[in-house]
Amino acid sequence: MLSFEDFEKADGKVDWQAYRAAQVAQGYVCYKCGTLIWGRDRIPAKSRCRECRALNKPEKGRHSSLVRCPNCMYLFCPSEADQYDLYDDGDNEAWCERCEHRFTVTTHVSYTFVSPALIEEDVDGEEEEEEPEEAGEEEGSGDRAGAELVGVDSQQPKEAPPGSSSVREG
Ligand SMILES: [Zn+2]
Ligand SMILES: [Zn+2]
Repeated sequence: MLSFEDFEKADGKVDWQAYRAAQVAQGYVCYKCGTLIWGRDRIPAKSRCRECRALNKPEKGRHSSLVRCPNCMYLFCPSEADQYDLYDDGDNEAWCERCEHRFTVTTHVSYTFVSPALIEEDVDGEEEEEEPEEAGEEEGSGDRAGAELVGVDSQQPKEAPPGSSSVREG
């Protein structure tokens, strides 16, 4: 991956435009949709991501951000085209800004829930102290764990062996 630090200008600020241009020119980012291109999919030249390449074929094609007009192959982002209905799950009507063709797009909505980080209990402005690791304890923790395990085992009620007195009664 390119390092944006290599694109620092004389004033120390990163020239993001040049960085993006280099990412596209070297095939790290799809020039059509801006998706990152990984591993074996990448060729070191201006190129498209897998999804965009699929939209270049005559078949039905799925893409996570772009819609293709079946008449003129124009690609567009629904939000940039103000076609927000296309974000609803199911079949939605789209129209092409370039050739005005109307067509149906099937939308699959998926969700990812990002839960917040754990709540920190001591937020008094005190510096976080690293807790000493318990390995420093005098008792060997490994041995103790083993002893506890044995203890649990021995506390289990002993079941009468099969074929005990109750069977023989009578
Ligand atoms: Zn793409
Ligand atoms: Zn079109």
